[in-house]
Amino acid sequence: MQNKTVLITGGSSGIGLGIAHSFAGRGYQVIINGLENNGAEIARSLAEKYGVRTHFIYADISNFSTVENMCNEALQHFGQVEILVNNAGIQHVSAIEHFPIDKWNAIININLNAAFYTTRCLWEQMKNTAWGRVINIASAHGLVASEYKSAYVAAKHGILGLTKALALEGAPYNITANAICPGYVKTPLVEKQIADQAKAHGIAESQVVSDIMLVKQPVKEFVSVEAIGSLAVYLASNEAALINGAALPIDGAWTAQ
Ligand code: NAD
Repeated sequence: MQNKTVLITGGSSGIGLGIAHSFAGRGYQVIINGLENNGAEIARSLAEKYGVRTHFIYADISNFSTVENMCNEALQHFGQVEILVNNAGIQHVSAIEHFPIDKWNAIININLNAAFYTTRCLWEQMKNTAWGRVINIASAHGLVASEYKSAYVAAKHGILGLTKALALEGAPYNITANAICPGYVKTPLVEKQIADQAKAHGIAESQVVSDIMLVKQPVKEFVSVEAIGSLAVYLASNEAALINGAALPIDGAWTAQ
């Protein structure tokens, strides 16, 4: 059994929840954060399924003081948070000339600034014990762009820059920082995009998937949350100590082009 604790932002839905299952299944203590009303119930069911300690923290991480409170609560409950997974994220699709200012700001806040806030709050305790892992869930859109996703692409490219800076600062303290860059994963975030695009283009949802969504991905399959969870667990292991500052795609060769 592991005795390490992982904090996963956006851990009560989609990819974050998949990552939570992967860590809990390997015996880690898991703290999930998110805006889901049933987050506490989700945390309880993880604890029952895997026999590990879990905790849910409802917190809007687009605000620094809220993040500070969240991290203090995590440390009060578990003493130490060795692994931080910055996963929470949102999307908005719009042509640049109509892109709503509030959506731009929200995406930059949640998808980029929040990762800085959480890391800033948990860094010192990682440094003090000379062991830590920061795992940022970026995207294929951290490596390449798509039209109409300017804020998302900017935030995801930004988080790869943050990852590299953390890798350099963490290196003397046995702290690694890496980014996982998934292609499309069928989660609530993507299901909403499928429905929106079908409406916008007046086509069936299945056609959105084949003709729009997976058109850039040579392997015509959604990435599974289990695959992302397994990679995150590997990055948290001692074997991965020298993988530092990397951006690792799981994208069916999308960014190989
Ligand atoms: P999702 O909508 O299923 O989950 C997002 C989670 O983030 C939820 O738990 C939600 O409550 C939380 N969240 C949103 N705003 C928040 C806020 N202000 N404060 C705290 N929590 C907040 O989405 P997902 O598809 O699982 O996405 C997770 C991450 O993976 C995102 O960073 C996303 O950009 C990235 N990603 C997703 C895909 C995909 O195809 N689904 C592909 C590549 C990268």
